[in-house]
Amino acid sequence: MELAKRLEKIPPYLFTKINRKQNELIDIGVEIINFGVGDPDQPTLNHIIQAMHEAIQDSTNHHYPPYKGLKEYRQAAVDWMKRRFCVEDLNPETEVISSIGSKESIHNICLAFVNPGDYTIIPDPGYPVYRTSTIFAEGKPYPIKLRAENGFLPILRSVPQEVAEKAKLLWINYPNNPTGATASLEFFEELVAFCRHYDILLCHDNAYSEIAYDNYKPPSILQIPNAKDIAIEFHSLSKTYNMTGWRIGFVVGNSLGIKGLSQVKSNIDSGVFKAIQKAAIAAFSTTEKDLQNLVAVYQKRRDILIKGLQSLGYPIKPNLASLYVWVPIPKNYTSQEFATLLLEKCSIIVLPGKGYGASGEGFIRIALTVEEKRIYQALQRMKNAGINYI
Ligand SMILES: *Cc1c(COP(=O)(O)O)cnc(C)c1O
Repeated sequence: MELAKRLEKIPPYLFTKINRKQNELIDIGVEIINFGVGDPDQPTLNHIIQAMHEAIQDSTNHHYPPYKGLKEYRQAAVDWMKRRFCVEDLNPETEVISSIGSKESIHNICLAFVNPGDYTIIPDPGYPVYRTSTIFAEGKPYPIKLRAENGFLPILRSVPQEVAEKAKLLWINYPNNPTGATASLEFFEELVAFCRHYDILLCHDNAYSEIAYDNYKPPSILQIPNAKDIAIEFHSLSKTYNMTGWRIGFVVGNSLGIKGLSQVKSNIDSGVFKAIQKAAIAAFSTTEKDLQNLVAVYQKRRDILIKGLQSLGYPIKPNLASLYVWVPIPKNYTSQEFATLLLEKCSIIVLPGKGYGASGEGFIRIALTVEEKRIYQALQRMKNAGINYI
């Protein structure tokens, strides 16, 4: 037997080596502090769990769901878009679809739009699924560099004309994983104009729209007038409501995008468990106060971490959003070497920037999913080991 050739084209998982070392250390009883995973450490909010309890008792929820999502769920998503972003006039029949988390729909939109040899324009560094899903669809990922000096925004004029002309999708993600960068509406306007000019489906992965600090409110791409002519936006309940394990999100915007997704999905999966959709409807009505409390936990952790790293000489400023702090590392290490050093000397796990693309080199990603006490501990371990920025 032999695995299909397509699996050979998927880049190797860059964190394998670190995982192996982590397991060795755990086996000999070392207490690891893990800043690697982007998975909220707190439980799902209680009113959502209560809604799930009720929904699961109701046997009408036990059957196949509609693959597009329950009508009530799609309506709730549309209402939320209106409340949160003042995006009006979204049609719940043609402009929104449920997803089994954003990862599913990011993959499926590639299957729906990318022919063999077509380009997708992807951010570098960026969430790895944009690249791998393009490869699954036999397309060609074209990475655009996100550089610190440009606020980690892509420079659109750096895309060669022939790539832009043959590109089917352009991916962006603000608030950004892994850099923590945010984008303005002015930049979104530029993007919409670019994608309109080249007839590219603009895909905005907005997984962190609610995880923002210092009173900053991240925008939706659909706030740009007529953006839905060419743009769709991917929303996920995973990070916002501590629901990574529940697997639910939605995609909203361009009707051809939604149509493509529903055609792919109706042939691959059968949608999201209805009880989970009912719980997700409850999640949309989370009070502003509950959400603020949740985000305040990350903001406090961010402040402790940034302050501590600054005192060790790291040249960083507080980021306005996302679950991550993106830290420049001393020049004499690769990101892989530096992550290994932190693991070996301090028993701290961070992710090497290179795991997110070649332009992630020179940085590590630290997730804010670790409690305050442990962040202080980690900083102390770095201080003791003399791991300063030099
Ligand atoms: C976590 C994450 C996702 C995936 O979220 P799910 O809805 O849990 O699949 C998508 N994009 C980015 C940038 C993420 O960080």
